[in-house]
Amino acid sequence: KNGVVIVGAGHAGVQAAASLREDGYDGPVILVGDENELPYHKPPLSKTFIKDAGAKPQPLRGETFYTGSAIDYRPGMRIERIDAGRHSLDIAGGGALAFDHLILATGSRPRALPLPGADLSGVVSLRSLADARLIRELSARSEDVVILGGGFIGLEIAATLRAAGRTVTVVESVDRLLGRAVAPVVASHVRQRLEATGVRILTGTSISTLEGENGHITAAITSSGERLPARMVVVGIGAVPNVELAQAAGLHVANGIRVDHQMRSSVPEILAIGDAASSRHWFTGGDVRLESVQNATDQARLAARTITGHTDAYSAVPWFWSDIGDMKLQMVGLTAGGDSHVVLGDLPDNKFSIYHYAGDRLLGIESVNRPGDHMLGRKMLGAGFSPTPQMVAAGPDGLKAALA
Ligand code: FAD
Repeated sequence: KNGVVIVGAGHAGVQAAASLREDGYDGPVILVGDENELPYHKPPLSKTFIKDAGAKPQPLRGETFYTGSAIDYRPGMRIERIDAGRHSLDIAGGGALAFDHLILATGSRPRALPLPGADLSGVVSLRSLADARLIRELSARSEDVVILGGGFIGLEIAATLRAAGRTVTVVESVDRLLGRAVAPVVASHVRQRLEATGVRILTGTSISTLEGENGHITAAITSSGERLPARMVVVGIGAVPNVELAQAAGLHVANGIRVDHQMRSSVPEILAIGDAASSRHWFTGGDVRLESVQNATDQARLAARTITGHTDAYSAVPWFWSDIGDMKLQMVGLTAGGDSHVVLGDLPDNKFSIYHYAGDRLLGIESVNRPGDHMLGRKMLGAGFSPTPQMVAAGPDGLKAALA
């Protein structure tokens, strides 16, 4: 028995290994990761780690988990080719691994900035612990920081570095923050509060050139010709899925490695999960590729179920969080296609939730510092319960009663 090989030791890969054992899988489990670390939590990197010189990475599981669960973790190992027909993998630098089942949990990587000067030192992006260490080190020596991209990661980094006393400018090419990920009212609330802390935000603005001296970044020049001094530029303009291995092996790829409702790729013994996978989502009926811890871990659990012979289909409710300064944003459901919304709570208090509807169906809730609404939302959407806007406005007691 060759067992299961998991490529990628991030949130999805580690959960898949754990779930295989929880589901009673007793064959070999090999977890291959190209980073030289004990697998760690990514979300704290942009929120706390980069500003706190003493912060330690938070391991996903303790070291004893791997030995104790007979998971053969191979750090610092990169897979460079899949032979789907022969069920075998080529290891970079030589050697091969055979598998009965393969789980691709290769994640995503920051989108590269297509600009001259993007290769200057001091121009960085944040995905891995190694990136976070570099940003922490650079930020200790950089008064002026420019952040390209007003998405979740860019804004988290902006808030974190501003709190650490840096002069921070965010440059976003479209005319609002957070893309289409949240309602305009949430995006403008986030903008206002960040600006109140002294973060400068330029929307509808792009960068035309990056200037450097002796190979290090010194300034970013905007499309309107303004020169923004910078000792560090953080590029946060989105992520692209790591699909190259799958593509070269002939697997079906479309904005991610295509998987069915049991996480099987177009070659059924090869599964894909997490940021790298795209699928038809039961919640919306549309094709999506989600980048969230929830999606990575729930898909991992399901991949393990598929390999251990179960046939359940993916049915987890999508949710996500982001901490931007003093705002805990929590999102549940998928709100694309909504046509109306109800607001609960108070914007000036920095505590409110937006309930999004398509017709009379509740699509999702975005909350700022109202964790109770978020948790209740997860229960309601999980139970397929869609309260009317009137029920929502009447407060949580009625909703809880209706769920009980
Ligand atoms: P990853 O965790 O990226 O793991 C993939 C691993 O595979 C990597 O270690 C990669 O190096 C490795 N790999 C790739 N190719 C190979 C190969 N050929 N051979 C060997 N190894 C390979 N989500 C939230 O829900 N809330 C948050 O607040 C949040 N904050 C975030 C903050 C930051 C800074 C980042 C970067 C992400 C954040 N996310 C957040 C997103 C979340 O971390 C990702 O959705 C999640 O990590 C996806 O898990 P994954 O296992 O698919 O990919």
